[in-house]
Amino acid sequence: ALKTGVQYEESLRKLNLKVYLLGELVSNPVDHPMIRPSMNSVKMTYSLAEDPQHEDLMTATSHLTGQKVNRFCHLHQSTEDLIKKVKMQRLLGQKTGSCFQRCVGMDAINAVDSTTFEMDEKLGTEYHKRFLAFLNMMQEQDLTVDGAMTDPKGDRGLAPSKQADPDMYVHVVEKKPDGIVVRGAKAHQTGAINSHWILVMPTISMQKDDADYAVCFAAPADAEGIFYIYGRQSCDTRKLEGGEIDVGNKQFGGHEALMVFEDVFIPWENVFMCGEHEFSGMLVERFAGYHRQSYGGCKVGVGDVLIGAAALAADYNGAAKASHIKDKLIEMVHLNETLYACGIACSSEGRRTPSGTYLINLLLANVCKQNVTRLPYEIARLAEDIAGGLMVTMASERDLKHPEVGKVIEKYFQGVASVPTEHRMRILRLIENMTLGTAAVGYRTESMHGAGSPQAQRIMISRQGNLEQKKNLAKELAGIR
Ligand code: SF4
Ligand code: FE
Repeated sequence: ALKTGVQYEESLRKLNLKVYLLGELVSNPVDHPMIRPSMNSVKMTYSLAEDPQHEDLMTATSHLTGQKVNRFCHLHQSTEDLIKKVKMQRLLGQKTGSCFQRCVGMDAINAVDSTTFEMDEKLGTEYHKRFLAFLNMMQEQDLTVDGAMTDPKGDRGLAPSKQADPDMYVHVVEKKPDGIVVRGAKAHQTGAINSHWILVMPTISMQKDDADYAVCFAAPADAEGIFYIYGRQSCDTRKLEGGEIDVGNKQFGGHEALMVFEDVFIPWENVFMCGEHEFSGMLVERFAGYHRQSYGGCKVGVGDVLIGAAALAADYNGAAKASHIKDKLIEMVHLNETLYACGIACSSEGRRTPSGTYLINLLLANVCKQNVTRLPYEIARLAEDIAGGLMVTMASERDLKHPEVGKVIEKYFQGVASVPTEHRMRILRLIENMTLGTAAVGYRTESMHGAGSPQAQRIMISRQGNLEQKKNLAKELAGIR
């Protein structure tokens, strides 16, 4: 059954997560002022699903049970589902102005479903059946699942089994009659502290020597032996100041954490790959493909907010009528919609895999993400251009509220006379938040490295680009036999 936003929050309180933040063990992550905004973002994926107006995008019909489920728990059954996924992500980016984190689990279940199905067909294993039982529970309880792929990786020039420290990639340390024991860590785990379960996948295509590292499994987020070290974000401690202007986006945010596995026991029923290294590449490629598609939705929604904020800054500065400002806003819209076009294109060109789950067009998904490594930076540059230098030199909220200097701030930071100075400060801080502050993690560096760094897409584009066919087209027209 669908959880409400309130039920989601309650369910998180029942977890017994071990989280370190700023050198301390956090006793109550849900209410911690630095973590809370990221919880609010995930909560929005539940609250919006309650809203009849958004039911079509936010929910879907489970192919397992025929029940209504949150789309984040759904396996895409058509290209229409793939398109709705992107639209849902754009909507949530618009509502939160940040990373709402729940997509990694959705992308993981879709990749694990089709991969385990094909693996079982070829090898006679029984992973798919186990996975469907897990999916059923996830849908039934409307869980947030953290799809965990990226390992710390140590020396990038060495294979997992050749590392000086064998734990640089998550691996199986022991096989028992009733399950496996795993050790290692996953880095930059989006939404880890807001998740009920985690779904761990290998991070690269494994070779025979690395078979112990070809492991995929699910575990409760608070399973024994798992703990988290919360990642810092630029300007994060502003959230501890108690104000609401300087944080830029008071209500919402995202987070990443290092997730550590200290000899964690995983019962066989939750193991979906264990040594089948020849299928690790397929799983990685599909998860990465789905997540590269995802950015054609979420980053576009955040871009919508940034463009709106830049346009407001121009209004408040009295510059909105200048032709170069209008042109810059047009350029920002053009760039943002280019990303959206890629997200929609790779979805509508998707195809059915043998399990019935739809996969995006991988070439177009990689082109989508490659554009995401560039265009948000240009959009952010234009937003900074329009905002003006005050965005980074402006005094604090406490100064604005100070009995004496407050009046000075009011007077000298005023733009257009009809707009309160505070409104101008608020919008500049929001732009700062997305381009330089806590939300820049999601909008900038994650656009670069999330779902794989730029070179990872170029490798996929070179594989999928079909240069030979293009040569033949040219030969044909040039009359070369
Ligand atoms: Fe979802 Fe985007 Fe955050 Fe990834 S970066 S989890 S796709 S909102
Ligand atoms: Fe991501």
